[in-house]
Amino acid sequence: MSMRSCDVLIVGGGPAGATCARQLVRAGLDVLVMDKQRFPRDKVCAGWITPSVVDALELKCTDYAQGRVMQPIHGFRTGIIGEVSVETRYPHAASFGIRRREFDDYLLQRSQARLKLGESMRTMVRDENGWLVNSEIRTPLVVGAGGHFCPVSRLLGTQQGQGKTRDTAETIVCAQEIEFPLSAEERSKCRFANDVVELYFCPDLKGYGWCFPKGNYLNVGLGREDNHRLPEHVEQFRHWLVQRGSIPRHLPGKFNGHAYLLYPTSRRKLADDGVLLVGDAAGLAYPQSGEGILPAVESGLFAAQVILDAAGDYRQHKLEPYVMRLEARFGERNRCQTGAVWLPQAFRQKLAKHLMATAWFARHVVIDRWFLHAEQHAAPAR
Ligand SMILES: Cc1cc2nc3c(=O)[nH]c(=O)nc-3n(C[C@H](O)[C@H](O)[C@H](O)COP(=O)(O)OP(=O)(O)OC[C@H]3O[C@@H](n4cnc5c(N)ncnc54)[C@H](O)[C@@H]3O)c2cc1C
Repeated sequence: MSMRSCDVLIVGGGPAGATCARQLVRAGLDVLVMDKQRFPRDKVCAGWITPSVVDALELKCTDYAQGRVMQPIHGFRTGIIGEVSVETRYPHAASFGIRRREFDDYLLQRSQARLKLGESMRTMVRDENGWLVNSEIRTPLVVGAGGHFCPVSRLLGTQQGQGKTRDTAETIVCAQEIEFPLSAEERSKCRFANDVVELYFCPDLKGYGWCFPKGNYLNVGLGREDNHRLPEHVEQFRHWLVQRGSIPRHLPGKFNGHAYLLYPTSRRKLADDGVLLVGDAAGLAYPQSGEGILPAVESGLFAAQVILDAAGDYRQHKLEPYVMRLEARFGERNRCQTGAVWLPQAFRQKLAKHLMATAWFARHVVIDRWFLHAEQHAAPAR
């Protein structure tokens, strides 16, 4: 097998790329995954996954948890920063905490794809047989899975409004987090439960912060639908958590930031001749929670199925069913949205302060609907 050609080249070895790769390898295709980083690598993320992610990945929790963090979450504490909070508990594990460094490496190795790590995709040029990537790799199909700044999605550009769709501003979430181990002594001084995630909304409702315990690690961060004064919001949140006794006064490092798009307003073009986008490269995150791992995994599965159905003919119309599957699952993009949608527009601040403090609203709206998508059916059978 040569590194100079493959059936499918996947650019990016995160959850979207690794999931797509696994399905294609299972079906017998020669798949090469290129990533600019060497794994295991850090990824800026809180590391929260829902049971739907576990199911979609066919993850055996007891196997995965051998030597890795897999923290079952039974409760959520929610509220507005600076206000009273409410705890919602579940009799089962309603979510899990993983470390992206471990999770992404596990998924990529499990895919059994050929790997080209430590190499960035720089160029991608069409020739009569498909693509020539970085002047050396020939392939008929490229899957762009390189996250928000994926070079493949830059090449595809954006989709313009087509009659029924309306061109709105894309909503870019900007978020910062820090993840660090806690010593037993530090842990004993912090006031948080091991199986409860704390989620606190910004008073202007344009984002939220979290305090997420995971085994011996703690992940603290905040994301907003604008990046205006993000470090200030993060610092205010950190300070408030320290005052509450939730986290140590001194954190062992800096907050790291990243950005990504929310699906309803994303205008990225998703498919073209010989090319598809998955995960953050396609801009697929859920609008209310900013959750991106489930859409990354599911888009990887959908893409693999459509690629296999296309049976080597990768002209755009053969790949278009991928876009339809995404729309069937996550809705149509750019419909009747005006501006930012990360939090519902009509949800006024005063009302929010009152509602957030009620147990019913916290359970049925904030957690079940916004964070766990309880009203959404499971992904259609593959
Ligand atoms: C602070 C923060 C917290 C978050 N918390 C959560 C959470 O708790 N739960 C959740 O579900 N989602 C969360 N998200 C969103 C989630 O991290 C993303 O949606 C998810 O990682 C998308 O996966 P992906 O595989 O599409 O891309 P990524 O995980 O970003 O992987 C992309 C890969 O592509 C590689 N790459 C990039 N450029 C190139 C190139 N030129 N050549 C080769 N390789 C390249 C990168 O090295 C990387 O390995 C969070 C995001 C942020 C910023």
